[in-house]
Amino acid sequence: MTEPPPPGPPTRIVAAGLRAVRPGVEELYRDLHRHPELGFREDRTAGRAAETLRSAGYAVTEGVGGTGVIGVLANGDGPVVMARADMDALPVRERTGLPYASTATATDRDGVEQPVMHACGHDVHTACLTGCARLLALHRDTWRGAFVALFQPSEENGDGADAMIADGLTARSPRPDVVLAQHVLPHPAGHVGTRAGPFLSAADSLRVTVRGRGAHGSMPQAAVDPVVTAAAIVLRLQTVVSRELAATTPAVLTVGSIHAGSGPNVIPDRAVLEINVRTFDEPTRTRVLDAVRRIVEAECRASRCPEEPLIERTASFPPTVNDEEPTRRVAAAFAAYFGDDARTVELQTASEDMSRIPAAFGAPFTYWAIGGTDPALHAGALRRGTLSEDVPVNHSATFAPVLRPTLDTGVAALTVAALAWLGR
Ligand code: ZN
Ligand code: ZN
Repeated sequence: MTEPPPPGPPTRIVAAGLRAVRPGVEELYRDLHRHPELGFREDRTAGRAAETLRSAGYAVTEGVGGTGVIGVLANGDGPVVMARADMDALPVRERTGLPYASTATATDRDGVEQPVMHACGHDVHTACLTGCARLLALHRDTWRGAFVALFQPSEENGDGADAMIADGLTARSPRPDVVLAQHVLPHPAGHVGTRAGPFLSAADSLRVTVRGRGAHGSMPQAAVDPVVTAAAIVLRLQTVVSRELAATTPAVLTVGSIHAGSGPNVIPDRAVLEINVRTFDEPTRTRVLDAVRRIVEAECRASRCPEEPLIERTASFPPTVNDEEPTRRVAAAFAAYFGDDARTVELQTASEDMSRIPAAFGAPFTYWAIGGTDPALHAGALRRGTLSEDVPVNHSATFAPVLRPTLDTGVAALTVAALAWLGR
C-alpha cells in the first residue's frame, strides 16, 4: 500500500463536491441509459445536458452541428479548459437485465427500425461531464479561467465532431488551451489510464465494387466473374499487414462483408466488399490504404474486368495521438488523486473522432480511459485467463458498467484534470 495523497486543493475540492453532485449524476445516468438515442437524434439527451448546465450557471449554446451543446462557465482571467463527452447510442438490443435497461427502438439512417442501447458507455461520459460541470460551478471560488463543457453528437458514425466544426464551433466557443476527454472501457472500475502519444487507432471503412460481366452460369467464357475476382482480392489483402508492414507496426485489415450474386446458375456482374482498416499513425495509414487500392485495381486488371473498380471511403476516423505535455500533467494529477488506481494503458484498436475538435482550435489534447467493469468480476476472469470471454466489452449487448465507483471516477477524473490547469 502507498500512502494516501496529501489533501491538496484538488483532492479536497473533488471529495467535497462529489458528495453533492453524485445523486444528480446517478439519476441522469439511469435516465440516459433507459432512453438511448442514435447519432444526430440525441435531442432528449442534449436537452438534459443543456438544462443541467443552465441551472449551474453556464452560458449554453444548443443545436451546434445538429444536437451538439456547448456550455461555458467564465470565472475570471486564466486558462480555458474544454472537456468533451459524446452522447450517442448504438443499434444493439440490450441484454444486461438491468432494472434501467433500454427497450427503446428507433429508425436508423437507412429507415430501418432498430433496437437502441448505450452499449459504448456514452451515457457514462455525458453524466460524468454534467457532474464535473456542476462540481466546478459549486466550487468556483477555488479556480480561475473558463471551463467549457462540450457534448458531441454522433461519435459512432465518425461524423459528429465534423458536424459541430462545420456549424461554426470555433466561433461559438472560447478557444481552449487544452481539450480533455475520456472513455469507459472494460477495465476494473475505479481505474484511470493515461497514455502519451498514440492511444487509439485510425479507422477507415471502404466499399469496393468489383465490376465484371454477367452471364449464364454455364458460359464462363462470356463472363468476367466478379465472385472469383473478389475472392482473389480477399486473399491477397491478407498479405498487406503480414508482408508489407514491419512486425513491430500494428495494423488490422478486415474484410467484414462480401456480397455478390443471386443464384447458382447466374454469374453476377458485380461484387461488393466492405473493408475496415485500423492503423496508429498517418504513414502506416497511407501505406495500407494505398496497398488496398493497388491490390484491388491489379486484381481487377488481372481478371480483365471491363471497368475499373469503384473504391469509396464510407467512414473515416483519425488516429488519437495524445499530446505529451497535457498527458504528463494529467497523469501526475491522477497519481496524486487516485494513487495506485492511476495506470498507464496499452494501445487500443478502437477509434474516435474526438481529436478533430482540438485540431479545429489548434489546441493540444489528452484522452484517457476509465474502468467500468465490476472489479471482482475482472479479477476472477484475469485469474482464470478468461478476460475476453467473461468481461463484456463495449458494443456488446451485455456491456453494463457498474454505477459505483465508475461514475464517481469519471466525475473526479474530469475535475482533477481540469483543475490541473484551472486550480489556483
Ligand atoms: Zn463505440
Ligand atoms: Zn464509444
